[in-house]
Amino acid sequence: MTQLLGVGNRTAQDLGKLGVTTQGDLLSLWPRRHTDRTVITPLNEVRAGAEYTVVGMVGTAQYEPRRQLLRVTVTDGLFVLFVTFFHGRWIARQLQPGTRVVLQGRVEYRGSRLVMTHPHHQVLAVNEEPETGLTPIYPLAGDLKQRKIQQLMKDVVPRLAPQVVDPVPTTLVNAEDLISRAEALLHIHHPPNREALDRARRRLVFDEFLRVSLAVLRLHQLDHQYEGVAQNPEGPESQAFMARLPFELTPGQKRAWNVVKTHLSAKRPMSLLLQGDVGSGKTIIAVLAMLAAVDAGHQAAFMAPTELLAEQQWQVLRAWLEDAGIRVGLLTGHDAAGATRIRHELSEGTLQLVVGTQALVSASVQFQRLGLVVIDEQHRFGVRQRAHLAQKGFFPDLLVMTATPIPRTLALTIYGDLEIAQINGLPPGRQPITTIHLPYSRRREAYETVRRAVRRGEQAYVVCPLVHENDESDLTAATALAEGMRQLSGWRIGLVHGKLSAKEKTEVMEQYRRRQLDVLVATTIIEVGVDVPNATVMVIEEADRFGLAQLHQLRGRVGRGTNPATCFLLADPKSDEAQRRMDAMVKWTDGLKLAEEDLRIRGPGQILGLQQHGLSGFELADPVADLAMLEHVREVARNLLEKDPGLVRAEHEILRHWVDAALQQGEPGQVLH
Ligand code: ADP
Ligand code: MG
Repeated sequence: MTQLLGVGNRTAQDLGKLGVTTQGDLLSLWPRRHTDRTVITPLNEVRAGAEYTVVGMVGTAQYEPRRQLLRVTVTDGLFVLFVTFFHGRWIARQLQPGTRVVLQGRVEYRGSRLVMTHPHHQVLAVNEEPETGLTPIYPLAGDLKQRKIQQLMKDVVPRLAPQVVDPVPTTLVNAEDLISRAEALLHIHHPPNREALDRARRRLVFDEFLRVSLAVLRLHQLDHQYEGVAQNPEGPESQAFMARLPFELTPGQKRAWNVVKTHLSAKRPMSLLLQGDVGSGKTIIAVLAMLAAVDAGHQAAFMAPTELLAEQQWQVLRAWLEDAGIRVGLLTGHDAAGATRIRHELSEGTLQLVVGTQALVSASVQFQRLGLVVIDEQHRFGVRQRAHLAQKGFFPDLLVMTATPIPRTLALTIYGDLEIAQINGLPPGRQPITTIHLPYSRRREAYETVRRAVRRGEQAYVVCPLVHENDESDLTAATALAEGMRQLSGWRIGLVHGKLSAKEKTEVMEQYRRRQLDVLVATTIIEVGVDVPNATVMVIEEADRFGLAQLHQLRGRVGRGTNPATCFLLADPKSDEAQRRMDAMVKWTDGLKLAEEDLRIRGPGQILGLQQHGLSGFELADPVADLAMLEHVREVARNLLEKDPGLVRAEHEILRHWVDAALQQGEPGQVLH
């Protein structure tokens, strides 16, 4: 049942779609922007080619039913503005001659007349003055009208906002030169002027950052309640492995490994973010870390973001480790019998290494002595998962690996106090990759390039989107594409996708590696871990269906040999965002730049999967644009906790509840009201 007072069922339903189910929620239905109606322009100052807000009286009004066109003249007594409305039947009833009206819209010349076309209009009651100030524009859903929601807010906000309790102690509010939360809530909706709006936003952003920062730091306090474990990076397995390594670590890897090593040897629980571009060789660092755990008599878990990627990484890790006589288990949902066995072995301690998805930290998987968790491509792992691990009563070392670097402060905010290590540079011999975005009308050009490459004895990938791992139609599309190509081109074509068994996949990949295939048609399964230096062309079908990070990962599969490589993005982007992704891919090959662009296009919540755990939090804040503020607020949070670690002082009580609620179910903004 709705807890929204005084709104109809229909409206309540639509508001529900916007996440508003209680009266209090309305307060945090933030306006997207405000339109400025402060400046009312006298009619004689209106010129063509600009937008104005004017006030006047309707002189004449003519409705043309056939074209549904309403023509109105509006006058201030001296000057006349011509106004036309489309679908004007309903508006005609409102705009009778003599009605006072506010109009907002663009003015253009029509012949010699100044005409305002289909402006936003608001009828004024007899003694009503035109609305001045900034008008909030809200997100809409269903049949909800902007006007309706504006009215609702006008009614609700001034009543509710003053009742809001301020979680931030007054001394801090004053020291930071902030306005009260109540005033901020009032003014974010109905600011008297720009300056008030800015101050309101600043206060609310401060609150968002403070809440997340405190939550993270409190979680970090929890870390310290658990005694960590020390790994042994110089043990016999590690050393034997190093000696057998077929290549030298790059200088970047060496530096990063030194950092990782130091933290692994310490007993304190490690939280380390290892950043390195696609292909920089992060996996080998993970292998070394896992061996350090094994040498210390611990177990290690390697978590990939999806089952497909888990399986793929399992192959890679097995290739590295089973030579050394160390077994690696794979825990997926596919193989129930196998999973039971592996669970058993993990709890008994007879299996030391396991690869899987996030399910590995779920309650049903018990480890005998879990010492290290490696998280590959961390998109879906954050504070809440860490809290989950801590609840299990141990705190293993965490090694988070990502090709998608994020600003340090943001990383700190999401993961708490974590160390960052960076692998700079790529292994020697990588080739430049040219990226070309083609619309489907020019698809042929991409495959022409494939043809030339095959003629030269090189190989190509064709990647088909498989957005959901079990999406049958996507699978059919990939199969059909492979079949069609096989018949038309005379190329030797292989097909890999997630539905094949591990053995079948390995077989096809092996054939490709041995150059028994010219073209490999694949779903995103080849995203990681595939390394065929002779492959020089990649065609990504429906590239707009992939995210930037994924496209970058995919592209990293070519350009690994001695010949230059080309990557085609086939797409007719349907949104501005998709277009920007394509442009970014063409412009940048550097993962760092792409990550920055990704942040800009999608917002960090998306990138990090923040939306999926409780601390997404940032509704008004833009952690990129407001980074300086975030840094400052982190310090503020730190100071607060230094003085009152448990937030137990009386003046911190509301603050503590507010923060703990964020950690538990984490819907910031909803707890207060
Ligand atoms: P990513 O950082 O993207 O996970 P990988 O760990 O998959 O990168 O490494 C990419 C490729 O580079 C792999 O084939 C790996 O075996 C190889 N590689 C890693 N380190 C080196 C090195 N120091 N010298 C040569 N090749 C390396
Ligand atoms: Mg990797």
